[in-house]
Amino acid sequence: MGTDHPLSSGDRLWAEKPYKESFGNAGIVISKADDLLNWSRLSSLFPMTFGLACCAIEFMSTGTTPYDMDRFGMAPRATPRQADVMIVAGTVTFKMADRIRRLYEQMAEPRYVISMGSCSNCGGPYWQHGYHVLKGVDKIIPVDVYVPGCPPRPEALIDGILKLREKITGEHILGS
Ligand code: SF4
Repeated sequence: MGTDHPLSSGDRLWAEKPYKESFGNAGIVISKADDLLNWSRLSSLFPMTFGLACCAIEFMSTGTTPYDMDRFGMAPRATPRQADVMIVAGTVTFKMADRIRRLYEQMAEPRYVISMGSCSNCGGPYWQHGYHVLKGVDKIIPVDVYVPGCPPRPEALIDGILKLREKITGEHILGS
């Protein structure tokens, strides 16, 4: 009868051993695949290197030593095909809107957008009389995080990055 069991008697003995005895001092981490994938993605966000106006100066400052964007595993990429975060930093004119949309579509999925500053959020100082300015980049691409300010300081952008990481933490990309 014992041989009908899916585990042979030797295997059963092994299965009944306590963890410590079976694995020695090796550490065991148990996690959901979603959590593991989310953790790896939020720890290696690659923003695209581009800027549109004055807010881009603050974006550049965020990468400098005092703010150190690298500590989040962020490495700016010079091509949209290797980037998964677009930080829209500056005034989105109608002339640039098409280009921004095209760059977004060329980015790797899953991809995210941080709208940095009032211009990108809603048109900023140009919201009323800026006939050439789009009143919010979310009219052409989906935005995950809005960072307010004119311009937002690097600390504010870092806060936006942390918000994006929080959002990624809760995603279910495996559909479970
Ligand atoms: S929000 Fe202010 S600082 Fe940023 S691009 Fe517009 S005008 Fe310049």
